[in-house]
Amino acid sequence: MFAGFDIGGTNIKSVITDESGKILKYMDTATPATAKGIDKTLADIILDLASSISASKEQILAIGIGAAGSIDRNKGIVITSPNVPSWSNYPICRNVEKLTGIKVFLENDATAACAGVWWHTIKDKYSNWIMLTLGTGIGGGAVIDGRLFTGQSGSSMEVGHVSLNPDGPLCPCGNRGCFELYSSATALVKYVKLKMKSFPSSTLKPLDVKEITAKKIYEEALCGDTLALEGMNYVSTYLGIGIANLINIFNPEAVIIGGGLSQASKLLFPKMKEIVKERAMKGLKENVKFIAVKEQSMIAALGAAKIARDRYNIP
Ligand SMILES: [Zn+2]
Repeated sequence: MFAGFDIGGTNIKSVITDESGKILKYMDTATPATAKGIDKTLADIILDLASSISASKEQILAIGIGAAGSIDRNKGIVITSPNVPSWSNYPICRNVEKLTGIKVFLENDATAACAGVWWHTIKDKYSNWIMLTLGTGIGGGAVIDGRLFTGQSGSSMEVGHVSLNPDGPLCPCGNRGCFELYSSATALVKYVKLKMKSFPSSTLKPLDVKEITAKKIYEEALCGDTLALEGMNYVSTYLGIGIANLINIFNPEAVIIGGGLSQASKLLFPKMKEIVKERAMKGLKENVKFIAVKEQSMIAALGAAKIARDRYNIP
């Protein structure tokens, strides 16, 4: 058996799986405030996961951790993470190994989500595909020739920080006009708030600022609100531009869209596909499948378990 963790700023999602990727138990736990607290909680969850399926801790062969931010997968260190500020060159693998006695592997959370989709949805269907996770920012993952792409240290596929506009707004990463400033859930909300004055009759107008979420905008767009629809159009246009760039690089069989905003695929996909058709190169764009991820919540934790299995089994 293998355990997988997806450590977010508010929640730790965890699974225990068998060798084939069947989820035996899923848990959702609040993220403690300190790095040491997280280590301890992970060790406690391992015991809970095992006992919930009447197994012993010793039956768990390896643990996988998906963490947001820049990591060093070889050293098992989180260099820096937006979710957990107390992680700074933090040796999470060594610490959790000490507490549990189980081998621990670390991967970027978007890479883990990609591995989860691979195990859960794609299986052997495609051997070249990319994934985008649309949430607060935009994460990315890729499977190339049937292998999960990780880059030198595990911080690859930061597609959200590919610049689409050299004179665009400054991004916290230091670059300008980054993809995620135009096509994430955050970007959608920001755009709609900015345009509010020009749409006095919008159904979003009477809402409190805090109530204007990506989900709410999508709901109002479905009901035909012009502002909400314009927001969706804006986000999907840039999504198409970003994806066309990626298609030209990867020549993928499929583009998988995950993250909270992928739930709006019904409204995002038509415009996005139109832009891809306009902009990606001939010979690369024709046979690409676009797939929105279902069952989001446990996908990165599942992928972390797959990564643990795969890396554990390497001789
Ligand atoms: Zn950036």
